[in-house]
Amino acid sequence: MEHTLNIYNTRTRKKELFVPLYEPHVGMYVCGPTVYGDAHLGHARSAITFDLLFRYLRHLGYKVRYVRNITDVGHLEHDADEGEDKIAQKARLEEVEPMEIVQHYLNRYHKTMDALGVLPPGIEPHASGHILEQIELVSEILRNGYAYENQGSVYFDVNKYNRDYPYGVLSGRRPQDMLNATRSLEGQNEKRNPADFALWKRAQPEHIMRWPSPWGYGFPGWHCECTAMGRKYLGKHFDLHGGGMDLIFPHHECEIAQAVASQGEEMIRYWMHNNMVTIGGQKMGKSLGNAITLEEFFTGSHPLLTQAYPPMTIRFFILQAHYRSTVDFSNEALQASAKGLARLMEAYARIGKLAPSASSPRIPRLRAQCYEALNDDLNSPVVISNLFEAAHIIHSAKDGKTALSDGDLRDLRDLFRLFLFDILGMEAETPTQHNLREEAFGKAMELLLSIRQQAKDKKDWATSDRIRNELTTLGFEIKDTKEGTEWRMNL
Ligand SMILES: [Zn+2]
Repeated sequence: MEHTLNIYNTRTRKKELFVPLYEPHVGMYVCGPTVYGDAHLGHARSAITFDLLFRYLRHLGYKVRYVRNITDVGHLEHDADEGEDKIAQKARLEEVEPMEIVQHYLNRYHKTMDALGVLPPGIEPHASGHILEQIELVSEILRNGYAYENQGSVYFDVNKYNRDYPYGVLSGRRPQDMLNATRSLEGQNEKRNPADFALWKRAQPEHIMRWPSPWGYGFPGWHCECTAMGRKYLGKHFDLHGGGMDLIFPHHECEIAQAVASQGEEMIRYWMHNNMVTIGGQKMGKSLGNAITLEEFFTGSHPLLTQAYPPMTIRFFILQAHYRSTVDFSNEALQASAKGLARLMEAYARIGKLAPSASSPRIPRLRAQCYEALNDDLNSPVVISNLFEAAHIIHSAKDGKTALSDGDLRDLRDLFRLFLFDILGMEAETPTQHNLREEAFGKAMELLLSIRQQAKDKKDWATSDRIRNELTTLGFEIKDTKEGTEWRMNL
């Protein structure tokens, strides 16, 4: 495929030309939500970042298999393998089944992502639906000698692994540095080394989410699901794995160790991580108690919000920053995004109203610059600044300061459609876009009727009757008059 898309690979710490293993196919795995609460701005950022990548790869012509998992078991309160399962805890507090919690928040997650214009992944596997694959992964690691069992739990042996393969290749952390950093928590004494992590945890009989395994009843460690499901749906080697930067350690570091310990080599070629959303410079997170849910943004129902913000304002706000920089939330910043987006939409709506002129100004290479920006590690803010420049040209044409030819107007319209709508995924459910759709619909009907007229002229009654009859079945009324054929919809 002819392109120069470069992406920053966290694994090698540099920008690299994107070359998939099996062109034109791309395998892409993104860590999805742990469904025990409503999605917040941080979730939106990750989903929108990888939605942009997904849309752009498809635009370049790749056939992308996009897998985004649902974590519904095994994610404990503390990353260090301790505490209650997040979903089981919520279910206990609300006195419902854990799967009711999962379904409830998953439905809400889908609704919110839809509102944000995030395209659904091709496969959305649940961790709880892939227990067998995870048991198989743990068994392989045990067989290869990089794990040990202790009282019904199985732990990954970081020291043993680190003698044969480097541990910490993604995060740069070394096992010896982690000895002091790890808190001593209950159950740590089952581990040979505090840096070890759980592959399988035994569960007491009262625990609802537990499954039989060669080591007794239990549940998989959090990191197992992505390795097992990534391999199941994308193969032993695939192209891309993404997620938030907070997942680099321990989650993705452990995923790499699990893959190497089970199959002898890494699975993933490019690791991509989006940066965090901050509030007043502090990370936003559910566990930190400062997260504003997306629903609260849409309705304005949070004390930190001075007004409601529509989903497209949130999407635009996120895309105005490069995915590897932090985004600091403030009402002022969101209001500025809303204004900026309105300006672009206004400019787009104005294109159709401008009368073309014979002469033409020198329009900068906006289209090429948008491609260059996307190819430079998905630099969405630069794409947006080019669109602002286009908006400026359109507004100045309206004021009579610039004359635009027919071709210029077409180029500008194509620029907005391709970059603002198709690739950045902004939606304008404004009358303008609706009108454009109606217009295209009308033109398609005229085309069909002109084909029918040609058939009639050639006395090809079979074709002309077929077009008329099938359109009638679809709910159209076709009337032949002296002036030509009229149509309307009877719906
Ligand atoms: Zn994951």
